[in-house]
Amino acid sequence: MFDTLLDLRRAAATCTDCGLSETRSQVVVGSGETSSRLMVVGEAPGANEDERGEPFVGRSGALLLALVDEVLGLSRHEIYITNVVKCRPPANRDPRVNEVSACLGYLVDEMRLVDPLVVVTVGNAATRAVLGTRDGISTLRGRIHTSTISDAPVVPTFHPAAALRGGPAVVASMRSDLMVVGTLLAAAG
Ligand code: URA
Repeated sequence: MFDTLLDLRRAAATCTDCGLSETRSQVVVGSGETSSRLMVVGEAPGANEDERGEPFVGRSGALLLALVDEVLGLSRHEIYITNVVKCRPPANRDPRVNEVSACLGYLVDEMRLVDPLVVVTVGNAATRAVLGTRDGISTLRGRIHTSTISDAPVVPTFHPAAALRGGPAVVASMRSDLMVVGTLLAAAG
């Protein structure tokens, strides 16, 4: 358990708790506003993130952040954005169960230290890890959930990579999920 996000970042930088440490270029922990009202949780870094050391800096990130800005009026610097798994899985394969569990403590600490009002999980891996379920995103989205690892309500939505593949219908669903987030944030004042 870390006292500050800086302590967490320093420890994570040399983490060898799972095999992804052998293939990563660098560890990618969360970035943005460390006392944000909104935390966005993705799956794992991809090639761009592994190279630059920041989450969601590729095409998926551009779409996700454009939607967050459009619907909520919040920029990358006003939200805290992170991933369940902090190291890139080789060839962008899905993170394995042991990799998610090895890394989950970092996310739990990020949630405690940022203490957001609302958490958005994007895609299957993030949503399953945060909600502790095997159900898929299509079943889980469209509702507000509680989580044992988050004090804040959790709003699951599609991964932006699915929207890049799936087109306007997926983007429309993401927009509608983010509108629920806007309602929650407004209700919190
Ligand atoms: N996809 C994710 O889930 N996270 C990133 O940081 C980039 C792409």
